[in-house]
Amino acid sequence: MATVADRVFNFSAGPAVLPLPVLEKAQRELLALPGVGSSVLEISHRSKAFDGILERTLAGLKSLLGIGEEYEVVLLQGGASLQFSMVPMNFLAGQSGAANYVLTGTWGKGGLKEASRIGKTHIAWDGGANGYNCVPSADEIGLSESPAYVHVTSNETIQGVQWQQMPSFENVPLICDSSSDFLSRPVDISQYGMIYACAQKNAGIAGVTVAIIRRDLLARSRDDLPAMLDYRTFVEKGSRPNTPPVFAVYILGLVCEWLMNEVGGLHAISERNMAKATKVYEVIDSSSGFYKGHACPESRSIMNVTFRLPSENLEATFLENAASAGLTDLKGHRSVGGIRASIYNAMPEEGVEALCQFMDDFKCSHG
Ligand code: PMP
Repeated sequence: MATVADRVFNFSAGPAVLPLPVLEKAQRELLALPGVGSSVLEISHRSKAFDGILERTLAGLKSLLGIGEEYEVVLLQGGASLQFSMVPMNFLAGQSGAANYVLTGTWGKGGLKEASRIGKTHIAWDGGANGYNCVPSADEIGLSESPAYVHVTSNETIQGVQWQQMPSFENVPLICDSSSDFLSRPVDISQYGMIYACAQKNAGIAGVTVAIIRRDLLARSRDDLPAMLDYRTFVEKGSRPNTPPVFAVYILGLVCEWLMNEVGGLHAISERNMAKATKVYEVIDSSSGFYKGHACPESRSIMNVTFRLPSENLEATFLENAASAGLTDLKGHRSVGGIRASIYNAMPEEGVEALCQFMDDFKCSHG
């Protein structure tokens, strides 16, 4: 049987490393939930035990993020990718203004592509000319006349580009794909019309997607939408119109519990995350150009650190040697190449220290 000692430092961009206490609790409860006698995988999603799991998960999210009464929190399936379609189906179809997209990387472009199948779209800013290495300043964003909404991606997972401060647009709902920095830092929910995030980075495992939606926006959804694509169905049925992804909901609940009880909330995790990212960027910045960061410093992601080495051959050697040293999944996304170190909430400080030491040593022997 595997033990903790068998675990590597896994820098995968998602699905990604989970907090050890979460894995251990899930492991303990996999034979029987206390007082239930079966695991969460084996009980009805309408059972009392699952009622409790769902309630605790939603309450955990609300408490961590300070979500007020004017917002609904729903749990969905289909990944963040389905939100690329559901957002415009619910909030663009039937509106006179265009959906505005601020493009800071690959995932934002994915959202735009789906929205353009549903209605009018407008590109409010596109960082493509510079290879998506930064976010725009507020005055670079050009909105269309009366936009239906503005869509942003708070952290572009592939490029490693993150907003440090969100722009705000008066009277226009801001909709944010927060898939890869959800629960990594405090957010002021009141800035947003909607935030959505798949769980398999900071919040748990694949299968569940969280959506936090301001109530007034729900009135926009058209009545001819298929029920399972209409947010109101999930609000009315308490995220259980059909069988939800029970294990993913359960793990999301355990992650919230870990953040609240063991970490001390989002301020605390954000400080940890900032300290971890600072260490890796310091290695990059002090490498005399051996490591070249992709993102410009003001837009650097605290979650996904992307960088290049002087040649692709060296990058291949770096990845191979890193894996032998127990530092895995550091390969950049196939579309951009290079190296990507994803250092989500659950990546321990020791993992980041081991990576930094490895990077320094690698530079000394190959620089
Ligand atoms: N948006 C962002 C920012 C992502 O990082 C990802 C997944 N890596 C997605 C959307 C798509 O998520 P899913 O695979 O859950 O559809």
